[in-house]
Amino acid sequence: MQETIVLSGLRPTGRVHLGNYFGAIRNWVRLQDQYRCFFFVADWHALTSDYADPSNIERSTFDAVADWVAAGLDPAKSVIFLQSQVKEHAELHLLLSMVTPLPWLERVPTFKDQQQQLTDKDLNTYGFLGYPLLQTADIIVYRANFVPVGEDQAAHLEISREITRRFNFMYGPVFPEPQALFTEASKVPGLDGRKMSKSYGNTISLTASADEIRTLISTMFTDPNRVRRKDPGNPDICNLYQFHRLFSSPELQARIDTDCRSAAIGCVEDKKLLADIVIEALAPIRKRREELDRDPSLVWDILAAGNVKARERAAETLELTRAAMKLAFRELPR
Ligand code: SF4
Repeated sequence: MQETIVLSGLRPTGRVHLGNYFGAIRNWVRLQDQYRCFFFVADWHALTSDYADPSNIERSTFDAVADWVAAGLDPAKSVIFLQSQVKEHAELHLLLSMVTPLPWLERVPTFKDQQQQLTDKDLNTYGFLGYPLLQTADIIVYRANFVPVGEDQAAHLEISREITRRFNFMYGPVFPEPQALFTEASKVPGLDGRKMSKSYGNTISLTASADEIRTLISTMFTDPNRVRRKDPGNPDICNLYQFHRLFSSPELQARIDTDCRSAAIGCVEDKKLLADIVIEALAPIRKRREELDRDPSLVWDILAAGNVKARERAAETLELTRAAMKLAFRELPR
């Protein structure tokens, strides 16, 4: 029976925060029981925008993988690897670059958006323009069937599907056309109500200490209209209540909802309650992370073993690709 392959990766941005966890990692942990999964640290992708200062990539890679494993990714079930250690991504990227019309890349909405938004970086580079191609190579080099995406990210996959179709049309059907695997991703607001993001400085780390969690939650924005303790609140517009939706039992959510609206509970009290719940929920993840920090070689060994497995699959794909493109040169010694 042919196995169904799922592929996903994230740039190494260091310690995982709750936005990353509820947006992606929690789904990865679930998917590994249903599919053959390949999860990778996209260190080359980090260079597309941060090439000027790559000094954090190694440390961030360690932190990301350690947190993924602490959160439940299991190297016995999933292949966990580092993109730059599987050179076939680069070869396939090059081959795809030969067949991809330039306007396809220029019209990718994030290309112009990011160039305009990240004004402190010079993103007028070939690598930045070509990142959707590298992304396509990342996926199809494993002949992946599915890529987990949130509802709003399906468009990102479209160019990869187009490039795959074009390649298959020109050279024969080497690659499955990757499909979006819609997963339930919970949006997590940051402490200030904006999207949780390191660039906004509004995150809670998945492995934060109990004291850090208490301090951070105490600064969290709540219902902006609830000025005094005796004012009734509205959980529907309260940033903190979003966290109850993620962490608290339905019964507790209902109680807080009622008590907030009648002003039976104050925000300070609710923050303490939420902090205790979050601390307890994250304790096992934090404990596993501490174990990995005590012996960092465990993390590097997981990546090294994953790299070997990833290379095997990717090397097979490149054999097929070269043959399809008449670059097999079978008479030449290997
Ligand atoms: S009591 Fe809780 S839910 Fe109500 S406004 Fe305050 S923090 Fe939000």
